[in-house]
Amino acid sequence: MESTLFDVSGRVAVVTGGASGIGLGIATALATAGANVVIADLNGDAAQAVAEKLAADTSAETMALAIDVTSTEQAEGLITKTLERFGRLDILVNNAGIGIHCRPEEMTMEQWDLNVSVNLRSVFHLSKLAYEHLRDGGGKIINIGSMYSIFGAGEVPAYAASKGGVVQLTKSLAVAWAEQGIQVNAILPGWINTGLGAQGRREMEGLNERVLARTPAARWGEPEDLAGVAIFLASAASNFITGVSIPVDGGYSVA
Ligand code: NDP
Repeated sequence: MESTLFDVSGRVAVVTGGASGIGLGIATALATAGANVVIADLNGDAAQAVAEKLAADTSAETMALAIDVTSTEQAEGLITKTLERFGRLDILVNNAGIGIHCRPEEMTMEQWDLNVSVNLRSVFHLSKLAYEHLRDGGGKIINIGSMYSIFGAGEVPAYAASKGGVVQLTKSLAVAWAEQGIQVNAILPGWINTGLGAQGRREMEGLNERVLARTPAARWGEPEDLAGVAIFLASAASNFITGVSIPVDGGYSVA
């Protein structure tokens, strides 16, 4: 008898920021495991290329949408178009995020608003829009936090505040929607080798050496390192787990 515990085949997943980095790693994992995937990204061309590649490489049906997650209309359009195309929505991965590098005393309110809007406001907005469709059974929301959900960060204060907020929002939505059968959990990636990771290495002097020295696994993570936890949180295997934030960090947060 085959186990269906980790089965996501036929489910429909939306991955924001799915055209690169961690979002691409998670979208690839879900498509490979049999889910149909919507790649929603600011970079529409990259999203289209990813959607075409995943459709060619796996049995998944895919769709690409150019979207800025901070736009109310575009967020609404993402959910509407997903339902038009697939008729259902089962898994929402709130992954799109940016990090504005600026000390707090120099940060403008426009910078603050933008960082919090992309990283936190959009998580609430898309979750709220998805709610009535997810509650129809087996709904999963997976939010992407950060090590800065836990630790302070003088060089990226709005980023850290937004990521701390993602953890609290995850708990709150989990409590609110548990009875509706929706599980809401977060992944807290350690230092992952992506475009954002490279930006961090450029902007924060000595970051590469600090990460390698501080991470017990002694390496940066790769987007593929998020695959297992994403499938776990997207599948029935995690049906009694809600409101938690799981570090995927090579031991960084416990060292
Ligand atoms: P990347 O920059 O590699 O990928 C982020 C993707 O999100 C890009 O394709 C980007 O598009 C897209 N995006 C950015 N802003 C928006 C927006 N407003 N609307 C829609 N899409 C948008 O970053 P990562 O893969 O590293 O980061 C993904 C998530 O993981 C983020 O939430 C980040 O905070 C988090 N994270 C990353 C860590 C790391 O070490 N890399 C560590 C901990 C957390 P475009 O390229 O066009 O800007």
